[in-house]
Amino acid sequence: MNNKKSKELYEKGQKHLVGAVNSPVRAFNSVGGNPLFMEKAHGSKIYDVDGNKYIDLVLSYGPMILGHGNKKVVEAVQEQVDAGFTFGASTENEIELAKMVCDAFPGMDKVRFVNSGTEAILSAIRLARAYTKKNHIVKFAGCYHGHSDALLVAAGSGLATLSIPGSAGVPNDAVKNTLIAEYNDIDSVKKHIAECDDIAAVFIEPIAGNMGTVIPSNSFITELREITKQAGILLVIDEVMTGFRSKFGGAQELLGVEADITCLGKVVGGGFPVGAYGARKEIMQMVAPLGAMYQAGTLSGNPVAMAAGISTLEELKSQNPYAKFNTQAEQIEKALLAAAKENGIDLTVNRFGSMVNPFFKAKKVTNFTEAQECDTDRFTKFFWGLIENGVYIPPSQFEAWFLCSVLSDDDMNKITNAINAAMKLAK
Ligand SMILES: *Cc1c(COP(=O)(O)O)cnc(C)c1O
Repeated sequence: MNNKKSKELYEKGQKHLVGAVNSPVRAFNSVGGNPLFMEKAHGSKIYDVDGNKYIDLVLSYGPMILGHGNKKVVEAVQEQVDAGFTFGASTENEIELAKMVCDAFPGMDKVRFVNSGTEAILSAIRLARAYTKKNHIVKFAGCYHGHSDALLVAAGSGLATLSIPGSAGVPNDAVKNTLIAEYNDIDSVKKHIAECDDIAAVFIEPIAGNMGTVIPSNSFITELREITKQAGILLVIDEVMTGFRSKFGGAQELLGVEADITCLGKVVGGGFPVGAYGARKEIMQMVAPLGAMYQAGTLSGNPVAMAAGISTLEELKSQNPYAKFNTQAEQIEKALLAAAKENGIDLTVNRFGSMVNPFFKAKKVTNFTEAQECDTDRFTKFFWGLIENGVYIPPSQFEAWFLCSVLSDDDMNKITNAINAAMKLAK
């Protein structure tokens, strides 16, 4: 495989960018080698600067659920670009996307748009504290909720990949109100609730995707809803990754729970920088200009980004790809397990809707500790094997693979063949 131009750009990028990237997982630190520089993408394929073509299972870490360059989305964006990029004033687009989002989430009466998942989450922390007049928050080890100070502890993929426990520059004071619980272990939450009467909110990824895909048990998620409700603690469900991905709306509906505050990002912006947080009326009433909790943004609700979001959600609704996602994810799971068996490799697979993860270990993965026990050296070999064979997956054992709605049967065959070839190389 020719990587000449990617290598040159990686060198060149080091001069004025930090590690030649604007987000650390892109640096390929955990898999070594040279990160790929991308040039263009169409449908299910992405092309690097050396002209190599891949089936894209990264999809910009989630947003490109329709594949790249969906015609309707492109048209909607171009139309808005012609009309103006940003006005610092309200537009009808915002009202339209807000209605689509609130209609899709049963527990949401009102929503505020921001510019990233991180921003949605940090606003939700402030909102939960404002509403409950309490200070502590609970998060689960291995869940990632963006890079705001208070939640940058035990935060999954990016950090696990870099092997740093938290982050330099986060003062102890910023995390002293953050309590860590274990995913799928309700007693670890009960213990905090018993010991602390100052908990504003519990934050959770409904399907974890940032320690690799990890699925909550029915009893865990149901009990979590019950005990938080009883204790007057808000349940903040972080659907930045899962929103509109496994169904139209949120994973919480599939799991049979309802959040007090829901956070969104990724798909809702259709590839543009959008985040959102929403809740029942009485909670959202706290937010300025209606209430005393301040939160603002120069580019929030940007009309171009809103146009991309609206058209993406419209397309998702009309394509309704969710059954197909399940079928294709199951095919990928079967291919992975068969190839592993063939080569005598220990492997377990987690999947939910259009999210899939192989973990290189024999036993099931239900929390971060178990995820960390897998053979990451083997993952690295497997990763490069897939790249060599034209399939682009995230450069980390701890990131979910994503499917898009335009994956064809031919793509599926190619993915299966690439898995077979890469698993041999991982032996
Ligand atoms: C990606 C992600 C975030 C952060 O969103 P950004 O847009 O990268 O700031 C937060 N929570 C979850 C679950 C995510 O997957």
